[in-house]
Amino acid sequence: MSAPALLFERGERPGVKNVMGGVMYGRMLADVVPEFWKTAPMERVVTDERLWLTTADSVVTAGHKHLPHSVEPPNAFTVLRVPFDGWFAAQAEAAGALLIPGTTVEDVIREGGRVVGVRTGREEGELRAPLVVIADGANSFLVQKAGLGRPLEPNEMALVVKEIIALPGAAIEDRFTLDPGMGATIEVYGAVTRGMAGYGFIYTNRESLSVGIGALISQFMETRITPWDLLEGFKAHPMVAPLLRGGVVREYLAHAIPEGGLRAMPRLFDDGVLVVGDAAMMVNNLHREGSNMAMAAGRMAGETAIQAKRAGDWSARSLSRYRELLEASFVLQDLRKYQRLPDLVEGRPDLLHLYPELLSEAIHEMLTVDGAGKREKQRRILRRLLARRPWWRLLRDAYEGWRAMR
Ligand SMILES: Cc1cc2nc3c(=O)[nH]c(=O)nc-3n(C[C@H](O)[C@H](O)[C@H](O)COP(=O)(O)OP(=O)(O)OC[C@H]3O[C@@H](n4cnc5c(N)ncnc54)[C@H](O)[C@@H]3O)c2cc1C
Repeated sequence: MSAPALLFERGERPGVKNVMGGVMYGRMLADVVPEFWKTAPMERVVTDERLWLTTADSVVTAGHKHLPHSVEPPNAFTVLRVPFDGWFAAQAEAAGALLIPGTTVEDVIREGGRVVGVRTGREEGELRAPLVVIADGANSFLVQKAGLGRPLEPNEMALVVKEIIALPGAAIEDRFTLDPGMGATIEVYGAVTRGMAGYGFIYTNRESLSVGIGALISQFMETRITPWDLLEGFKAHPMVAPLLRGGVVREYLAHAIPEGGLRAMPRLFDDGVLVVGDAAMMVNNLHREGSNMAMAAGRMAGETAIQAKRAGDWSARSLSRYRELLEASFVLQDLRKYQRLPDLVEGRPDLLHLYPELLSEAIHEMLTVDGAGKREKQRRILRRLLARRPWWRLLRDAYEGWRAMR
């Protein structure tokens, strides 16, 4: 049997091994599956995105809500991975790929320095191909087997735990003030991560919520806080609990997210091999983007393969076009823009807690009507601020924040 592309999946079905918060982006999907919105199992179209900065008993919120765009595709929508990945793999099959589920790729085969195929866990499970695209997700051992990257450090990987909590659709729409079929996302920073660098999230599905929280593995190791405890604390937070009330936990999931950024990125190509998605560290955590980068990189890997096939040249020189395409796209441009962020987040997790507290205190002060004049209130806020952070440290924080995000 011959097929243009073989798609190995270690799970019995696509999606059963996969975890994500659940927000996907329409533009990158439309680039590979035009008019996907007519058939894809989307949960809700996201029209309301909120950012919460929490203290133990308060929240400062920011957000953006809009009417659904009249022009397809939707910018962002929520998914559950099992139905979504099943549908996505079926699109690849319809385009001619051969899906081989229940099969783990255990190694790449190298001959004369080139990658010439893969070795699977099946009997007589060696397969040869002019090109292997490594897409095995976070902490890819195939990247290491192929000699393209090193094992990741605990500070280059976050661990996220998540529950899918069933709630009637009407209750979700009431609690999140949504029109039917529309969805909300909330990213939650501050006290909920108990001093660690990370964040929580609540995303709305049709009849359930995806609720999760995570932090750098190195910080779980240092603090000895268990991921389970962190999630329970998050769900019990006085601003979070009312949104979940009456919900029934249907699934509990855990997964790693690559956090190392550009500094931990493996080599992206070599003779006969390309690396895409989480295996290549392509995650922009600040903007909750990973699925879109994986899809964009997958498309660029495909375009590179078409050119290489036409030229009959699968050498690293020919495949370097993949890197050029990535460099010209948002994928490497955004990872480069935020390349200093992992160091800041890891080295200064206090910033994610102190500033939400200071902001909350300042707003609370201004909103509390206690007979003091507003100028006096400003003075109080400034005094409290400088008591917690001398002015030179405030300047340093602002400079470091600007440097990591500019
Ligand atoms: C909790 C969580 C929340 C997230 N939230 C979001 C979000 O809201 N929006 C967003 O854009 N991104 C989010 N991400 C990131 C996003 O999930 C990833 O960036 C994206 O899934 C990467 O796609 P991928 O194909 O590279 O890897 P994956 O989606 O991990 O897929 C890898 C696939 O390879 C298979 N596999 C692994 N090893 C082998 C092997 N040896 N042989 C055969 N098959 C193998 C796996 O079973 C899996 O199907 C989140 C991640 C997590 C963990």
